[in-house]
Amino acid sequence: MSRNIYSVIIAIFLFSSCSNDDAKVNDNENESTVKEEQSVTLYTHRHYDSDKEIFSKFELETGIKVNVVKANADELIQKIESEGDQSLADLLLTVDAGRLVRAKRKGLLQEINSEILNSVIPSHLRDTENNWFALTKRARVVVYDKVKVKPEELSSYENLVDSKWKNKILIRSSGNIYNQSLLASIIANNGDSVARKWAAGMVNNFARSPKGNDRDQVKAVLAGEGEIAIINTYYLGKLINSKDPNEVTAGAAVNVFFPNQNDRGTHINISGIGVTKYAPNKENAIKFIEYLISKEVQEVFAQANYEYPVNSDAKCSDLLNSWGDFKEDDLSLSKLGELNKEAVVIFDEAKWQ
Ligand code: FE
Repeated sequence: MSRNIYSVIIAIFLFSSCSNDDAKVNDNENESTVKEEQSVTLYTHRHYDSDKEIFSKFELETGIKVNVVKANADELIQKIESEGDQSLADLLLTVDAGRLVRAKRKGLLQEINSEILNSVIPSHLRDTENNWFALTKRARVVVYDKVKVKPEELSSYENLVDSKWKNKILIRSSGNIYNQSLLASIIANNGDSVARKWAAGMVNNFARSPKGNDRDQVKAVLAGEGEIAIINTYYLGKLINSKDPNEVTAGAAVNVFFPNQNDRGTHINISGIGVTKYAPNKENAIKFIEYLISKEVQEVFAQANYEYPVNSDAKCSDLLNSWGDFKEDDLSLSKLGELNKEAVVIFDEAKWQ
């Protein structure tokens, strides 16, 4: 049986939304007909409603159906690995560079040479061998209590270990990849002994044992549990635009501060994507990535999900503009993945829960 027909049959088994294709497969054991049905299969860790709309628009514009499989990145990586050359996945989309580095190391992705991708996406925001590409940027910033803290008191991530922040810092657990990548960036920039001291100093200044997600840290600032929180910028956008009035109040209680503006810049992470090694629909997968980095779609990411575009032609939303321009750390994001294990060890040593 040809690989195409085999793939379609598995697709029908897995995706109930394709159920009306049943008849086609039964009636046409004819490869050319099957080939006309263009599709691309995306394994994604992203969980944002705006993505759905973007995918529908891609389907309308190109006639290529987007099959979406959602799970967390580790589960998806494991799935691609165990499916091997029979995998239906064409693309892996994650919310952190570290996982893409891991997928590449396992040999699950392939090099893509697209003039569009190479010219639009700056080199530090893609894999050195073009196995993965950033789609959006997220800055991991300090937000501070508008009443209790003055921005002049803040400067860098490194400065947060100062004793004046004792019992005032809110941040989620070290099991979270965003924190692991932040620490990896500190290791890469300052070396591991500074990183060790930093992790211990942060734990020493915690307002409480880490719990909850980034949004919960901002709510804790509002509740008076601490004065500064470390979060990804888009979560503040979600709070400010929430349907829940308590979240709106929490979002309004803080301002954004971009750390390290006088040296390397604020730590950024990405949401990124790679084409799988055995992608059955490689050409469609490349078209899909090129679509996601187009000016129009990049502006949707900024508007609807408060993420920074990787395409410099795209406009930021008014909200992102209101936080101001900032200098970003242009450390190669591959480093975040390479140093992930070391970051986890340092967190454990520091007893950062
Ligand atoms: Fe997130």
